[in-house]
Amino acid sequence: MVNIILFGPPGSGKGTQSANLIQKYGLIHLSTGDLLRSEIGAQTPLGMEAKKVMDQGQLVPDEVVIGMISSKLDANPEARGFIFDGFPRTSAQAEALDKLLALKKTSIAAVLSLEVPEDELIKRLLNRGLTSGRSDDASEEIVKARIVEYHNKTAPVADHYAKYGKFKKIKGNGSIDEIFSLLSKEIDELVSEKV
Ligand code: AMP
Repeated sequence: MVNIILFGPPGSGKGTQSANLIQKYGLIHLSTGDLLRSEIGAQTPLGMEAKKVMDQGQLVPDEVVIGMISSKLDANPEARGFIFDGFPRTSAQAEALDKLLALKKTSIAAVLSLEVPEDELIKRLLNRGLTSGRSDDASEEIVKARIVEYHNKTAPVADHYAKYGKFKKIKGNGSIDEIFSLLSKEIDELVSEKV
């Protein structure tokens, strides 16, 4: 199995790149943001609770997203590997993920971190808000709150994986194709190590 975390702040391109990478490598895309939005779409109690927090640009509780990831891992026993997008977002989530993967006799191969300057992130997110219908992209205040949340709670996840030599920065501004080839180069190496 090759399991990769696509890491980076909101608006760094994780969703766009994940969609292309799963096609190329036959991996399964696990985005906690997408999973939460589908709960919201289905108007489940979990979705309704999560929406309140998401609309303030804050993180939903760890146990909620860890539970979602755990059931997706169980639901895909034959997977060649996973791309985690938007998860883990706290140190507690990273520790839980490591344990869940260890139970399945696997681990994270690499954390690829898309590096994008902050003014560019804000521009991209507000732009996406014009077409995505996402309420958490709609105002500069919420977008900035998400970036603050990222610095306070998510950035430590980088240190967690850097300790194991698994953290790698990737230039995240440029064309989609250019960034895709930088990511592919890293993943090709990981895949060839597994053969
Ligand atoms: P995303 O689509 O990854 O930008 O996530 C949108 C929103 O969903 C975030 O701002 C959080 O409110 C929530 N969310 C997504 N993933 C997580 C996570 N791993 N932990 C906590 N909250 C999350």
